Amino acid sequence: MAGDSAVLEARGVSVGYGAIPVVRELDLTVGRGEVVALLGANGAGKTTTLMALAGLLPLSAGAVYLHGKQTTDTLFRRVRRGLSYVPEERGIFRQLTVMENLRLGRGDPARAIELMPPLGALTQRRAGLLSGGEQQMLSLARALAAEPAVLLCDELSLGLAPLIVERLLERISVAAQAGLGVLLVEQQVRSALMVADRAYVLRRGRVVMSGTASELAERLDEIESHYLSGLETADERR
Ligand code: ATP
Repeated sequence: MAGDSAVLEARGVSVGYGAIPVVRELDLTVGRGEVVALLGANGAGKTTTLMALAGLLPLSAGAVYLHGKQTTDTLFRRVRRGLSYVPEERGIFRQLTVMENLRLGRGDPARAIELMPPLGALTQRRAGLLSGGEQQMLSLARALAAEPAVLLCDELSLGLAPLIVERLLERISVAAQAGLGVLLVEQQVRSALMVADRAYVLRRGRVVMSGTASELAERLDEIESHYLSGLETADERR
C-alpha cells in the first residue's frame, strides 16, 4: 500500500517498556478499506504494537502517521481523528448497563444495536453480567458505531465460541468493505487470514514475514511451526 493512501502507518517504530525494547524498526501500513492481520506467538509484541499505534506508549524511534500526517497525539486525540482501539480486555464499564456503555461511545447507540442486533435485548443488563461473546459484541459495536476510519482490534476471539468469532469477523469485514481500515491482532490465525487482505508476522518484536493473506495462508504450516508456537520472552530479545 503506498504511503499516501495509508490511513495508518508505522515507519521504523521501536517501542518498549522503560529500558526493555519490545518492538523494533517496525514498518506497517493499513490502507482505507483494508483488513490487515498482525500475527505472532504470545509475547511477540502484538499488543505493544497496537498500544504504540494508539498513542499509549512513547516511541523510542520512528514515527506513526494517521491519515498521512505524523502524529504524537494521545489516544484521546487520535480517537477524535478517527482511530478506534478495542483492547484485549474489551474496555467496557462492567458496572454500567449495555445502554449506558453505548451512550459513552462516540457513536449513536441505535446504530450500535443495528450493527449487533442481539444487543437490543440486553440494553438494561449490566455489562459485567454479559457473556464473553456479548461483551465483545458490545465493545465492537460501540467502536464501529462511531464510524472510525481505522480500527485497532486486539484478540477479538479470546475465549469466544467459533460461531461468535465468525459473526464478529463478518461485521469487521462488512465495515471494511465500506472503507474502514482494520489492524487485527488474532490468535485464531486461520480465521484472521480468511477476513484479512494482508498480514504481518512478528517474531521477537520484528516483522519476519508479510504478504497477502492468501500468500501467507499457503505457508500456514511453516508459519505456525516457526513463528506462532511457544512463548517469546523479553530476555530473548536482548
Ligand atoms: P500475547 O499474545 O501474549 O498478548 P503479544 O504478542 O501481544 O503477546 P505483548 O503483550 O506485546 O505481546 O508483549 C511483548 C513483550 O513485552 C513480552 O515479553 C511482555 O512480557 C513484555 N511486556 C508487556 N507489557 C509489559 C509491561 N507493562 N512492562 C514490561 N514488559 C511488558
